Amino acid sequence: MVAVKEVTGMNDKPLAETTTTATPAPCPFRVYCDYCPGYCCYRLPGSTLFVTATDINRLARHFAIADGEVRRRYLEGRNTFKVKEDGSCIFLTDGRLNCRCSIHEARPDQCRLFPYDQQCPYLIRADLLAQISPKVEKSLGVTAL
Ligand code: SF4
Ligand code: SF4
Repeated sequence: MVAVKEVTGMNDKPLAETTTTATPAPCPFRVYCDYCPGYCCYRLPGSTLFVTATDINRLARHFAIADGEVRRRYLEGRNTFKVKEDGSCIFLTDGRLNCRCSIHEARPDQCRLFPYDQQCPYLIRADLLAQISPKVEKSLGVTAL
């Protein structure tokens, strides 16, 4: 079984380390995100996207609704977004090869910071790709990427 927690994805950063008000320096590895179908936007066993109160308020302003309404519509439990049947984030758009986050301007801090100034583990770990690629391909309606 893959030790996802050790490698970590964007879904695995402790809350205290992800809450920030400062603008982070651009991550040199984020360039790959422009050409990636968003592997990190799928929930893997042992990983969770942590959504903070600040994230919820940002989303509330984005949709011009109350924080509580954001929680009701989009959260599973107190601190993470709902996922679709294939394990993808509720805000991930199907059928597109890249730029798939439908709330990009209002996405959570954790999504902004990943892969934390390191090479993205989803792109360099064959076992992670093997887990997530079939789901990505299905949502894109392709047989190979
Ligand atoms: S962080 Fe990694 S998996 Fe996520 S979009 Fe960027 S390259 Fe893809
Ligand atoms: S909010 Fe956007 S970037 Fe974050 S997991 Fe969902 S689809 Fe991906």
